[in-house]
Amino acid sequence: MRANSIDGIGMTSRRTRQRLVDRLREKGISNPRVLQAIADTPRHLFVDEALASRAYEDAALPIGYQQTISQPFVVASMTQTLIEDVDKHTRVLEIGTGCGYQTMVLSRLVNLVYSIERIGALQVRARDRLYDLKVRNVYLKHGDGFAGWPENGPYSGILLTAAPTEVPEALYEQLTVGGAMVLPEGNRTKQRLVTIKRTTEGFERFEGPWVNFVPMVSGKI
Ligand code: SAH
Repeated sequence: MRANSIDGIGMTSRRTRQRLVDRLREKGISNPRVLQAIADTPRHLFVDEALASRAYEDAALPIGYQQTISQPFVVASMTQTLIEDVDKHTRVLEIGTGCGYQTMVLSRLVNLVYSIERIGALQVRARDRLYDLKVRNVYLKHGDGFAGWPENGPYSGILLTAAPTEVPEALYEQLTVGGAMVLPEGNRTKQRLVTIKRTTEGFERFEGPWVNFVPMVSGKI
């Protein structure tokens, strides 16, 4: 068994991963399916080997190109909020694939995941990694998430892992009635977690805790 195998060893072992799950439960993540998805996702394979021993700390870590893999607690709580209202057999749009960690967590919970990343080099790496991990219900695209991905919508859930200053206009109409969008909203220094729900009447907005995400940037590179 090697540190960079799916099962890991020592600081990357399943037991270490289970300790992270226990910590998330203590911090208030209660949805058993979300906890199981975190337990099933080998976070140490989503970061550089040099950082693998820190993969099961509840912390954000660098993934290159000035981007970060989100903190597990934040991944778990956004996912929990998103799937609370999302039927199991539906499609979700993620904006900001990054290393693909949140993408794999979502893939364990919903039928189809569509994910967009603006940095080509990260997108290619995420695609190869998810393929190697045999994640097959995910479609990835190198593009600008401000436009969403209208061809495959509408989506029952939309999750943003980079922070726009306000909800991108195009995303509202890509949400199904009954669907939810979860995002960090704000500027570089001050953001809060926002949930938008689409009802037959229109859109409802809920504001959550302060968070700290990389900014959403337009255009692809
Ligand atoms: N969920 C990711 C988090 C990565 S950080 C993970 O677990 O690794 C957020 C990502 O959003 C970065 O990779 C960044 O390049 C990307 N991003 C920022 N603006 C974007 C945009 N307009 N469209 C698509 N992706 C964007």
